[in-house]
Amino acid sequence: MKLKDESLQNLEHQRLVSLINSMGDGVIAIDQDFKIVITNGAALNILDVNDTLIGKSIHQVLHLIDKTNQSINLKQQLMKTNTVLSTRDWRLVYQNEEAINMYLSISPVRLSYGQSGMNGYVLLLRDITREKSLEEERDEFISVVSHELRTPIAVAEGNVGNAIYLLEKNTNNEQLAPALQQAYDQIVFLSGMINDLATLSRAERGKLQVNTEAINVHQLVQELVSNYQPQAKIKKLIIESDVDPNLEILYTSKLYLREILQNFITNAIKYSSKGKIIIQANRDQQAVVFRVSDNGIGISKSDQNKVFDKFFRSEDYRTRQSSGTGLGLYITKKLAKLINAEISLESELDHGSTFSLKVSSLA
Ligand code: ADP
Repeated sequence: MKLKDESLQNLEHQRLVSLINSMGDGVIAIDQDFKIVITNGAALNILDVNDTLIGKSIHQVLHLIDKTNQSINLKQQLMKTNTVLSTRDWRLVYQNEEAINMYLSISPVRLSYGQSGMNGYVLLLRDITREKSLEEERDEFISVVSHELRTPIAVAEGNVGNAIYLLEKNTNNEQLAPALQQAYDQIVFLSGMINDLATLSRAERGKLQVNTEAINVHQLVQELVSNYQPQAKIKKLIIESDVDPNLEILYTSKLYLREILQNFITNAIKYSSKGKIIIQANRDQQAVVFRVSDNGIGISKSDQNKVFDKFFRSEDYRTRQSSGTGLGLYITKKLAKLINAEISLESELDHGSTFSLKVSSLA
C-alpha cells in the first residue's frame, strides 16, 4: 500500500515537473531562506545560464534594476511581499552589463491551512523587451504627432480668429484675404498630414494589399513626366525622362510604385531651384532600377542616414522654406518593403540628389 502511494506521488511529481518545464514563462521557486528549489527551462534561458541554480540564493542570481537604474534589493523586496507583487518596470542585468525589460511576478507560498507563516516564494519571469520598445515607440509617435499638429492648428486658429474680429469690426477688410489664405494653407497641410498618417498606419499594420499588375515602364515614366511638368514649370525646372529602350513589362504594384516615384519627384521639385529633374529607368539583370535625380540643395552626409526616419526634416533653412511633414520618405520606405524593392540615395550638399528604387520582377 505504501509502495503504491509512493509511486503515485512520484507520478504526480513527474507531471508537475513536466508541466512547469513546458511553461513559456520562467518559473523559479525559492524557500524561506531565499534558496532556489525549483527552476524551469524558460527561467534558465532568461537568466542565460546552463548550470543548475538549485541551492543558490536568489539575490545572487537575479540582478535587478529599477527605472532609474538603481539596484533592487531583492531580499528586502521579498520580505515585504505578503501578497502577489507584479511589475513591468524592472530590468534584469547580465554579467556583461546588458539589461532586458522583464515582467516579474512574485507570489508568496503559504503553508497549508491551519499553519502560520510562509515557506517560500514563486517567481514568474518574462522577457518583455520587445513589447517595451514597441510601447516606447508608440508613446514617442503620439507625442511627435501631437507636437507636429499643434503649430498648424494654432496658426489656423489665430488667423480665423483674426478674420472674425476683422469682420465684426468691419474695419480693415484688406487683411481678411491674407488671414484666410494662411488659415487655408495650414488646413491643407493638416489634411495632407492626416492622409500620410492614415497610409502609414495601414502600411504599418500590413493592411495594404499588394495587387501585382503588368506595368509598361516607358508609359509610366512618360505619364509621370507629363503630370509633373506644370509644377516643374512654375519653378523654372526642366523635367525629362531617360528610359532604357530594351525595357519590358514589369510586374509589381502600380499603385505603390507610382506613389514611391511621385514622392521622389515632388521632393526633387520642392528642394530644387535650378536645373533638371531626370527620371530614369534601366534594366539591371532581372530588375528595373528607377532613378530620380535633381540639381537641388542636396543632403548632407549626416542627414542622409536620417531622411527615411519618421518626421525627419533637414534643419537647412532651404528645406524649411517649403512645407512638409517629414513623413513622405518614411512611408516610401514602408511601401518599398511591401513590394520587395530597395531604395538607395546618393547626394552631395549643394550639388543635388539621386533617389533610386530597384524593383526585381521583370517577366
Ligand atoms: P518632407 O518633404 O515632407 O519634409 P520627406 O520624408 O519627403 O518629408 O523628406 C524628408 C527630408 O529629406 C526633407 O525634409 C528634406 O530635408 C530631405 N529631402 C528629401 N528629398 C530631398 C531632395 N530631393 N533634395 C534635398 N533634400 C531632400
